[in-house]
Amino acid sequence: MNPNPHYPLLFTPLELGFTRLKNRVLMGSMHTGLEEAENGFERLAAYFAERARGGVGMIITGGIPPNAEGGYGAKLSTSAETAQHRRVTDAVHAADPDVKICMQILHMGAIAPNPDCVAPSAVKSRIAPFKPRELDAAGIEKQIADFAACAAMAKLAGYDGVEIIGSAGYLISTFLVERTNQRTDEWGGSFDKRMRFAVEVVRRVRAAVGADFILIFRIPAMDMLEGGMARDEIVQLAQAVEAAGVNIISTHFCWHEATVPTVATLVPRAAFTGVTGRLRAALHVPVITSNRINMPSVAEAVLARGDADLVSMARPMLADPELVRKAEQGREDEINTCIACNQACLDHTFGGNKQVSCLVNPRACNETLLNYLPTTQPKKLAVIGAGPSGLAFATVAAKRGHRVTLFDAADAIGGQFNLARRIPGKEEFNETLRYYTRTIALLGIELRLNTRVDAALLKSMAFDEVVVATGIAPRRPDIEGIDHPKVIGYIDAILGRAPVGKRVAIMGAGGIGFDVAELVSHAGPSAALDRATFAREWGIDFENHPRGGVTGVQPQAAKSDRTVYLLQRKSEAVGRNLGRTTGWAHRMTLARRGVQMQAGVEYLRIDDAGLHTRVNGEPRLFEVDSVIVCAGQLPLRVLHEELLAQGMQAHLIGGAFEAAELDAKRAIDQACRLAAAI
Ligand code: FAD
Ligand code: NAP
Ligand code: SF4
Repeated sequence: MNPNPHYPLLFTPLELGFTRLKNRVLMGSMHTGLEEAENGFERLAAYFAERARGGVGMIITGGIPPNAEGGYGAKLSTSAETAQHRRVTDAVHAADPDVKICMQILHMGAIAPNPDCVAPSAVKSRIAPFKPRELDAAGIEKQIADFAACAAMAKLAGYDGVEIIGSAGYLISTFLVERTNQRTDEWGGSFDKRMRFAVEVVRRVRAAVGADFILIFRIPAMDMLEGGMARDEIVQLAQAVEAAGVNIISTHFCWHEATVPTVATLVPRAAFTGVTGRLRAALHVPVITSNRINMPSVAEAVLARGDADLVSMARPMLADPELVRKAEQGREDEINTCIACNQACLDHTFGGNKQVSCLVNPRACNETLLNYLPTTQPKKLAVIGAGPSGLAFATVAAKRGHRVTLFDAADAIGGQFNLARRIPGKEEFNETLRYYTRTIALLGIELRLNTRVDAALLKSMAFDEVVVATGIAPRRPDIEGIDHPKVIGYIDAILGRAPVGKRVAIMGAGGIGFDVAELVSHAGPSAALDRATFAREWGIDFENHPRGGVTGVQPQAAKSDRTVYLLQRKSEAVGRNLGRTTGWAHRMTLARRGVQMQAGVEYLRIDDAGLHTRVNGEPRLFEVDSVIVCAGQLPLRVLHEELLAQGMQAHLIGGAFEAAELDAKRAIDQACRLAAAI
């Protein structure tokens, strides 16, 4: 067979002896929330089948606990549960018989949200709701037997294999390190004894499923916390589970309680694959790598460096189910790229068990509910505003067969994404604009930039319907001195249209206030684009790989020579409402740069001396050269009101519809739903 001309390594099959994977891309495990939802397995089946049709070689499901104490939600231990899982495996194999689907067995151990949770020792995790019960010898035997029984049930349910997660602070990994395994029996003490549980689980699972069944072990390849595993221990464990019968080893980075970001957009692409590469050199079985591999070119480069045999892309499969097919056909510029924002996926998973979706693709996990079917009544539509909501609406509507003209007053598409992409650490937002630029061209949407639209223009063009996506206007608080020359709007600050002084007060600490603080306090290369800077800023030692992978030295964040104050009126902690899985990293970065965050501020006036306030009742002057206003936004609805006054049919979406608590997730979701229905 000829190699794929675009990505020859990515599309080389992988022989496993009794079976083969058709390419080197797998969809990594993600809990979606559908596992516990009504009709959840029917929806899961549609979700996975769409990814199978999209060309991925292997799918790993979200984690399924092997028993009640190991987690929550959908289990697999009865025949009724087997029948549910069968819907998923049948759907995937019907979509493409060459695609393999493996079920992840996830025993959450000490971090299970379950008062009956168990662990090698009764050590409570910083992030867990309950203190675990220490397992006795019989309890350990029961856990191992439950792993084996669950794997056997997975085989009955039609899966091609299982992945056992041995990392991240879940049960198996807590046996591996002394900080959570304080036992003195045959399951604790020396590393040989601490790894015995992992090896025994693998051995017993292999015995339960027979030889012709894929068995993957997810190994903690770098724990990212002090007291984690040492490098030689990781190699020893990998070789031991290899000998115990795994077919593939998958490398995982970081315990959930670690304070090193490993998947956020501020993490460089493929930052961790070198760690996999080192481990691979010590093994015979194929190895999977992961984390921030979001485009086929990145994946191909990882394989070319010899870092791995297989590349796991999880969130990128939410963003674009056809990613692999597009890569295979050399259409990578059509990929809707995962921007690693976590806003609709991990923030939902860790924010109270909400269902997962994707900011750039609201169809993700809604495949049976939100469909873009060809229209039977093509209309001539005008879309005013080419920000995220206008772009999403225009492209979905055009895909359905409507004739769309997209207007924007600016000279480029993107709306506020053109500001977001300029923030260090948010470079991935460029990909969304590239995706829309290409999609607009492919769908033949008429794009009219540099065109400020009014009702008269629209009337003259005789559209059937108009969609107003004109976005927002920044709020300008009514404070004495707000017109002082030292006051700058966030748009001017980000675009560099107004000089920012050495002493800066940022008024408003929402998402934009934090981004502006990042911009003005930053110095040197963006850590998201430079692995060495990233490692330094987060205290990681990729090269020497000390125990846990972290240096233990206080991380160093390069910073500008500005004094920066980030202020809010509310008395709650600054940054409390940022993303669940990313907010802590933003807060930590700014704190390390010396940005001073102040809650409970009452703004009194701005003058030559600076910003006069009362802080918790006490007068305080912030002696600053610049005050950057990031005080929220107001909807821009003038055009919509004009259209309605003239009797035209007009819809409102995005920030123009509602500016309060607006983000791109809500803007794009609303736009896609309207476009599916119009
Ligand atoms: P906008 O993006 O505001 O687009 C409106 C468009 O309409 C503009 O291009 C404007 O030129 C055009 N327009 C207005 N009036 C007219 C007219 N009369 N004629 C023609 N064109 C007109 N959100 C997130 O979810 N995650 C983030 O990480 C994130 N980061 C951000 C960082 C920054 C620095 C900023 C500023 C915003 C960020 N946001 C983020 C918010 C997100 O960008 C907005 O929620 C989103 O852009 C709103 O989309 P929209 O289409 O409603 O409006
Ligand atoms: P925001 O999150 O609503 O924050 C606005 C800030 O302004 C708040 O700190 C608010 O807090 C303050 N404020 C409100 N009214 C004020 C007034 N009259 N005077 C002074 N201060 C006032 O809005 P945003 O920062 O403009 O962001 C817009 C949207 O973009 C947000 O919904 C956000 O989700 C999204 N975004 C997201 C990210 C991300 O990383 N996920 C990044 C950027 C933007 P106080 O009232 O307490 O002062
Ligand atoms: Fe990626 Fe953001 Fe979508 Fe999650 S929500 S899959 S991080 S683009």
